[in-house]
Amino acid sequence: MTTSTAASNRVANMLTFDIEEWFHANYDGLEFPPYGTSHFRQNMDTILRLCRESNSKATFFTLGTIGEHYPDVVKAIVRDGHDLATHGYAHELAYKQSYQEFKDDVKKSVDILEQLTGTKVLGYRAPSWSIVERNYHYLEALEELGLVYDASIFPVKTFLYGIPTAPTEVHRPVVNGRTLNLFEVPMSVTQVAGRNIGYSGGFYFRFFPRFFIQNAIRKANREGKSSIVYLHPREVDPTEQKIELPFKERLIHYYNVGGTQRKLAKVLNSFEFTSVAEHLAQKGLLHV
Ligand SMILES: [Zn+2]
Repeated sequence: MTTSTAASNRVANMLTFDIEEWFHANYDGLEFPPYGTSHFRQNMDTILRLCRESNSKATFFTLGTIGEHYPDVVKAIVRDGHDLATHGYAHELAYKQSYQEFKDDVKKSVDILEQLTGTKVLGYRAPSWSIVERNYHYLEALEELGLVYDASIFPVKTFLYGIPTAPTEVHRPVVNGRTLNLFEVPMSVTQVAGRNIGYSGGFYFRFFPRFFIQNAIRKANREGKSSIVYLHPREVDPTEQKIELPFKERLIHYYNVGGTQRKLAKVLNSFEFTSVAEHLAQKGLLHV
């Protein structure tokens, strides 16, 4: 094959999961049912198995409440050699919190995860991509907490989230003229008709055919860039309970959940995947 193929094989992509219950979503009026009545444990078994079978390492952005309710699962993530990161305490939108509430929320989750596992939490991803332009300076709170990376920025424009003009590569964010001592690892986008769109996580991963996703990953890798895949435990299980939502939101949450586990297994077996922390280490940006 060509040298570009050989080069593309050397680029490791990043595999990430947001570890939460099926009912963690941010719509007004939603009430969270009790933990422990879901398929969470078996879906996590599935995800950890798919990682083992494809020899992939991943970052698990985990809620503090998941640490409280499923300590055994969080310990299993670390036992399998993955990167344990935080998704906040209870899936509250960052831009609906004050700076101090946000900082306290992230700290609470970090403390729970670290005390449970004895490992250092290095990274954060905001619930529902809720670091946007108006609360971009909240990244300073992550720096103050000693976190090493953030993966909350989606450089797209959607009706729910996104900073369409944000850089699309790993970088140190600048807040109020100061470069932060923290890496931003933005979600992967590809250009279609001059606009950034997601292709490798959540709804986009379920919606686009596998050949489209794989072509986009291949293209990124040929350019020396890593793609990020993100999914939730509920997305590998069509029989998991579902939130009652209007049509558009239902589509975003549940489109093709029946085909996702199989698609994920194939994508994981077609490319090399590693965690965000390991990716930063491979780039010489982080010493783990
Ligand atoms: Zn989430």
